[in-house]
Parts: sequence; C-alpha cells; structure tokens
Amino acid sequence: MASAVVSVAERRPTRKIRVGKVEVGGGAPVSVQSMTTTKTADVEGTLQQIYALAGAGADIVRCTCNEQEAAEGLARIVPRSPVPIVADIHFHVEMALAALDAGVHGLRLNPGNLRKPEEIKLVAAEARDRGVPIRIGVNAGSLHPALYERFGGATPEALVESARMELAYFDEVDFHDVKISVKASNVALMIAAYRLASETFDYPLHLGVTEAGPPPGGLVKATAGIATLLAEGIGDTIRYSLTADPVEEARAGRQLLEALGLRERKGLDLVACPSCGRAEIDVIKVANEAQRALEERKIPLQVAVMGCVVNGPGEAREADLGIAAGRHRGHLFIKGKIVRVVPEDQMVEALVSEAEKIVAEGIEARLALADESAEKQAAEDRRDLLSAKGLDANNSDEVVLRIRKHIAGGAPAPDSAAATDPEGEAGPEQS
Ligand code: SF4
Repeated sequence: MASAVVSVAERRPTRKIRVGKVEVGGGAPVSVQSMTTTKTADVEGTLQQIYALAGAGADIVRCTCNEQEAAEGLARIVPRSPVPIVADIHFHVEMALAALDAGVHGLRLNPGNLRKPEEIKLVAAEARDRGVPIRIGVNAGSLHPALYERFGGATPEALVESARMELAYFDEVDFHDVKISVKASNVALMIAAYRLASETFDYPLHLGVTEAGPPPGGLVKATAGIATLLAEGIGDTIRYSLTADPVEEARAGRQLLEALGLRERKGLDLVACPSCGRAEIDVIKVANEAQRALEERKIPLQVAVMGCVVNGPGEAREADLGIAAGRHRGHLFIKGKIVRVVPEDQMVEALVSEAEKIVAEGIEARLALADESAEKQAAEDRRDLLSAKGLDANNSDEVVLRIRKHIAGGAPAPDSAAATDPEGEAGPEQS
C-alpha cells in the first residue's frame, strides 16, 4: 500500500518579488541562496565558485561588494553568471550605488551598518528606478546600538523593529521591492524573530541562522532554525551560513527543501537501514560506496541500501530503487519489487547501472523487464535467513524477558512469534 502523501504546512502568503529570473515569495518555490568566499575582484575565481554553487543547488548567489575593485568585478561577473547575483553591502552607500551600476539583480543592506536615513533613501530610490529588489538584512550581532539599548538587547522585537524602521525609509521614496531577514546565531532567538516578522510583514522572508559554524554542528543549528520555520509555512528563500566550502551550504539548502517536499528532487536521496543483527553486509560501507558513485553521476532518484532481504525491500518499498543483501547475493528491487539477483561483490555496480537505466528509460519500463525468477530467489533467501537467525535476529525476546523480570518480578517470556523489535524490524509477516 502506498504511504499517504503529506506535506509541511501551507506557505504563509507573502508578496512576490523578482531577483533577476528567480521569483521569491507569493507562492514561488522556496529558493536556495549561498555566498561566495572569493574576493569579488577575482572575476574568474568568483565565477568558478558561482558555477559550483549553481551546480549544487543555489538559485541565487551573493557576493560581497566592499570596495571599488569588487564593484568592478561585479560588472564582469553579472553578465556571465548562471544565476542572479546579489551584492552584499554593509557600510558604504557608494558601494551600493556602484553595485547597482554593475547591474546586480539585488542588494542586501544591513540596517545596523548603513544607518544614515538620507543614504538609505538614496539607495532605495536608485533601486526603485532600476527595478532591483533589496533585502533588509537585520542581524542580531550588528543591531543598531539605539535599538539594542531601547529593547535591552537583541530581542525578537528589536530585530523586527529594525526592519520596520528601514521599511519606513523605503516607504518615503515609494520603494516596496523588498525581502527581509532577521538572522541570529542563537536558534531560539532566530525562530522567535522570524515568527514575529511573519506576523508583522507580508514581505517575503529570507531565512538563515547566521554564523552557524562548521559542520556538523553548523548544519544541525541551521537546519533546526530553518526547518522549524519552513514547517510552519514561514520562509520564501533560505541560506545556510556554514564555516565551510559554500558548496556545502548550497547542497544542504537544496537537500532540506527536497526533504520537506518543498522542491522537486534534483539530486540523489540515499536511504539506508540502520543495520542490525540480521544484516548480511556492512551496510555503512556499501551505502557510502553507492552514495559516492550515484552522486558522481547526479542520479535524481531515491535509492535504498538495506542490510537484509528479509525486511529490506518491504521497508524501503517507497524508494525508486534499492538493493538488499541475502546469502552472499544482492537483491535489486524497484518500488519494492525484486527485479534481479546479483553476486554480492557486484551490488554497487548493479545498483548504479540500474539507476542509470531507470533515469534513461523510466521506472515502468524497467519494472517490465524484471527477471521473473528473482522474487522466487528472494523468497528462498528470506526463508534460509529466517531459519538461520529466527524471527528475532536481535535477541529482543531475551532482553524483553530480562526487563520483565526486573520490573514485575519475573513475568513469562513473550511468545517468539509475536516478538517485538525496537526498530520495527521483525519478521516478514510484519514488514
Ligand atoms: S532487519 Fe532492517 S535494519 Fe536489520 S538488516 Fe534487515 S533491513 Fe537492515
């Protein structure tokens, strides 16, 4: 039976803006952003990184525009970039104006750093005349000192007030092509600030946990903040701020959106069982080998690596393709149906070759070519494995018995046929 289709909460309605060819907000797909780490003046090096980021899933890329050479670099980068370019502006109004001259598709202004109302209005008016959107990029770490004092710190209210004040300046020059971010490195603060921003504004929101740090901790922090909000329907574009190669940021952003069902799968989704006493192979090793090979070939499928044929194909029946081990051979399955049996040392090779064929010919065509004897061979292997290890391959019965003895002073052992399995991996009748 197919599992029910569920999705995260409905997107909260926001206005739609356009960053170059990419729509943000107003029901557009949530987009992924990242930022280059090269000197923007290094045109070839920056373009190389932009291409790598686009390849990893970035829809929009930001480059710093901190000096004249950077603005000049942008003039050469923008026409050759595969994705829209946003210029990151902090202190210098002339850099914002130079970036607009360079033809960037968006600006990011930090209200904590560019503070003079006349300068803010000048940039907004120029952006308005050129149809270029601006992100009001509030950051808890660089909040305007007056707001810090007024609110007694970088509170959610202070961050949202900073954005509101900047919007008021934009209003004065009739500029409304805006998205907003209220980032913090503290995840709880970031979540609260964005919730408040979402209640306060109808402008699209750019989500991020700033200075999240290196992976894996940085990935966990950024995901905790961004995913929580996306699951509530908040957020129109996202950026992971990792202390790592920015390609990691783009990849993580894309993977998160795919995992939440907010973007169509473009890359591989490798699922693998956690392994247990029933495993017939080294699941971690095979899964890593398969992941490397499938990623190299940019296979856009959900592929499963399962430790045994007793439960593997059933547990991973939603995967497009998978392999399960049994008695020194691999059982290749498509949507849960065993289609071929291969020698154990050829499992990864067979998996990759079948994945390529599915991409070229489609799932139905490959299912139609299934080896009819494969299901029978899998049934034999299941039977043999069950008789070798029994229904309770993890010795759960023994543990349950011990627990019952300790707690209740010695209750009878459970019937082995009805044995429970902590990972939900009991015999085939329960798969
Ligand atoms: S029972 Fe489940 S977890 Fe254990 S090896 Fe088989 S598929 Fe993996």
